[in-house]
Amino acid sequence: MPKRKDDKQDNATPCSDQLNAESNEWFAPEPKFFMMVEGSQIDWGGHDKDRDNTIRQTLLFDMAVKEAIEFAQRDKKTLVIVTADHETDGLLLNADRRNRLVAGWNSDDHTAGDVPIYAFGPEVIHFSGTHDITDIPKIIARLLDFIIFPAPLKAAQPVVEAVRN
Ligand SMILES: [Zn+2]
Repeated sequence: MPKRKDDKQDNATPCSDQLNAESNEWFAPEPKFFMMVEGSQIDWGGHDKDRDNTIRQTLLFDMAVKEAIEFAQRDKKTLVIVTADHETDGLLLNADRRNRLVAGWNSDDHTAGDVPIYAFGPEVIHFSGTHDITDIPKIIARLLDFIIFPAPLKAAQPVVEAVRN
């Protein structure tokens, strides 16, 4: 998702909380469906080393997660999974000499730090423990009864050259 310039002026890119509120109408009566809500502006806050925006975007994402959890509590058939594909810029939280919380950064890009995975709802057991990030879509596909995921690549077609006599 592109970086937002201003939450109030950029209507083309909804905040994750707006997206989730609007998406309550997307929950179709299909037996199984998948919906992804990305809190990408948290990443942009990290790239900008903008502590306040990172915190604000995290709180907005938290509101979206709250909506999803409340839906799952009512629905009792919905699995909510919250994770990240990476951490950005090595956000550090520490205490200063007066024991106040301070935030800082120790990198200039995405980091290889582990990210948490949280899940709520039926089949939650599949997301406990430690996973490679590529396991997550495979588990979701299995739960959605996809037969083969990821789909195998098509074999390259042999090049048949015309033989001229
Ligand atoms: Zn990024």
